[in-house]
Amino acid sequence: MQERLKELQEEALQAVDAAADLKELNDIRVSYLGKKGPITEVLKGMGKLSAEERPKMGALANEVRDLISAKIEEKQQALEAAAVEARLALETIDVTLPGRPVHTGNHHPLTRIVEEIEDLFIGMGYTVAEGPEVEKDYYNFEALNLPKSHPARDAQDSFYITEEILLRTQTSPVQARTMEKHDGKGPVKIICPGKVYRRDSDDATHSHQFMQIEGLVVAENIRMSDLKGTLELFAKKLFGEDREIRLRPSFFPFTEPSVEVDVSCFKCGGHGCNICKQTGWIEVLGSGMVHPNVLEMSGFDSKKYTGFAFGMGVERIAMLKYGIDDIRHFYTNDTRFLKQFKLN
Ligand SMILES: [Zn+2]
Repeated sequence: MQERLKELQEEALQAVDAAADLKELNDIRVSYLGKKGPITEVLKGMGKLSAEERPKMGALANEVRDLISAKIEEKQQALEAAAVEARLALETIDVTLPGRPVHTGNHHPLTRIVEEIEDLFIGMGYTVAEGPEVEKDYYNFEALNLPKSHPARDAQDSFYITEEILLRTQTSPVQARTMEKHDGKGPVKIICPGKVYRRDSDDATHSHQFMQIEGLVVAENIRMSDLKGTLELFAKKLFGEDREIRLRPSFFPFTEPSVEVDVSCFKCGGHGCNICKQTGWIEVLGSGMVHPNVLEMSGFDSKKYTGFAFGMGVERIAMLKYGIDDIRHFYTNDTRFLKQFKLN
């Protein structure tokens, strides 16, 4: 019996040594140490032994079991470590290989201009205000001193949905709505970016949908010089420190007096070139002092409060700043065009 046990031990240890993987090792464990294994089988014959021999044989059997078990454990750890090694080797990254490009999107050029202008005005204490694109005739025109019969309405061919509702033709209704919310109490200091819609035939400089940014300040003692200083800073930040501005008298129904604002040409510095049409100046926006009627309609006492407003086309600013020759590029989703505005 003793010999048989030793034989089994030898056999088992050799099998464990030879095991190539964890499955094979587990099969060995089951076959040698299991309840139906040969060791159990040998121990069944213990009944025939003398009382003296029995415990010795029992101890030997346990010894053999423990030895095989320990050997299996050892082998299992070795096999597991080898498996991890193999996987690591398989998954090793060759850092010398060239990387695969990651395709990322970028901000639309109009978004970039809007954010740049927003940042500039937020820095001066303005807040960004937004409003609906489907707007009431009242806010789009009437509250801005454009009654139904006003001829200036013709200059803004509109998409009407009903007689009283239209796609807004300008971002000014946001000004009217904001002033109304202020309930006659200043100061108001907002910047309103957004999409507007006019019934225009699309060509290189016209689009039926475009973007505006308007600014509005209403407070006590606001003067024309405040407007000029603000716009001068705007021109320098957006088009370069050397820029100057020029105000020309103009007409808008919602401001009085009204001015067109020109910026000295950033390409030729004022000597004359194709961008400034040889004048040295580029028209960038319209502005003026808020018309007293507009203040009164929005609940402000025009004897106590004054203000200024300005508005510009975002596409025009972007076209000037980036040298883009056709407004339709902004809306045709051609990635070859859009990719050029990737930062970095
Ligand atoms: Zn020029």
